[in-house]
Amino acid sequence: MKNKSVYSVVAAVAVFIPLALLLLGFAASPLPLPKPYEGPVPAASPPKETAVFSVLTGVNHRVAAFGYRGGSLFERREFSMAGALVKHPKGDLLIDTGFGRNIDEQFLNLPWMFRAITFYSLWQPAADQLKAAGYDPQSLHAILLTHSHWDHVSGLPDFPGVPVWVTPQEHAFIRKSGEMDFCRLFTGIRYEEYGFEGGPYLGFPGSHDVYGDGAIVVVPAPGHTPGSVIIFVALPSGTRYAFVGDVVYQLDGITEREERSWLVRRKADTDAEGNRENMLRVIALKERLPDLGIVPAHDIRAFAGIPALSQARTR
Ligand SMILES: [Zn+2]
Ligand SMILES: [Zn+2]
Repeated sequence: MKNKSVYSVVAAVAVFIPLALLLLGFAASPLPLPKPYEGPVPAASPPKETAVFSVLTGVNHRVAAFGYRGGSLFERREFSMAGALVKHPKGDLLIDTGFGRNIDEQFLNLPWMFRAITFYSLWQPAADQLKAAGYDPQSLHAILLTHSHWDHVSGLPDFPGVPVWVTPQEHAFIRKSGEMDFCRLFTGIRYEEYGFEGGPYLGFPGSHDVYGDGAIVVVPAPGHTPGSVIIFVALPSGTRYAFVGDVVYQLDGITEREERSWLVRRKADTDAEGNRENMLRVIALKERLPDLGIVPAHDIRAFAGIPALSQARTR
């Protein structure tokens, strides 16, 4: 009898402690506030035609806790599945694709555990939005990926022949065909690699100025995936955006300085410490440039200030 009660206590503790630790991983734990970025802010001279448009392709029905530590397990959040079209006279770029036409079929290739907790709505794939807006597909110069996860590349097959720009590190990651990546399902995608020849930029150790005018500058931000990047876009109005991909899922990651929970970091990031370093760089930059528009791919609020493609004069 005594043995039986000892066993029940041991069993209860064995269940309770890991569960408590797991839940603790969701509790608020803000990162220390870094010093504001003190380096130079390079001038940008984007041509007058430079413009950016949001391309919201759907949403993932999540809760705040999935996005950042301290987020409620009960607060529903619609995570945007999105790209952005950057118009530039030297060639337009699509930053990520969001959901593509075949998302339902592609989705079945994701791990069952992930599928069991993932509920999404497809609104309209990027290629169809471009078409509906009367956009000339010839104007699309390339697709520039923040990284190669499923929800950022799903639409690649909808743009046959359009080159896909990736870092060598992300290209190698794509070749390894991770379970959260759809690229293994695609054939005939033309990946083109680029490097960071441009030196430090806004606190990041390297940069790639796409057209040499400061309008679109890519910087390395490895951690979430080995070749993740942040894309800075400067508009003629002086407005600057940082498309940060999945460095954070929600803006609260920056404003509250909260990482993803331990469990989500473990599942989603290849190098969580590297990702934290890049989060801190973005936070330090935002301290220096309060008007900088931080755009996490999955924060629908961040896209609210960016005109939708349907409002674009695309021809
Ligand atoms: Zn991702
Ligand atoms: Zn994502």
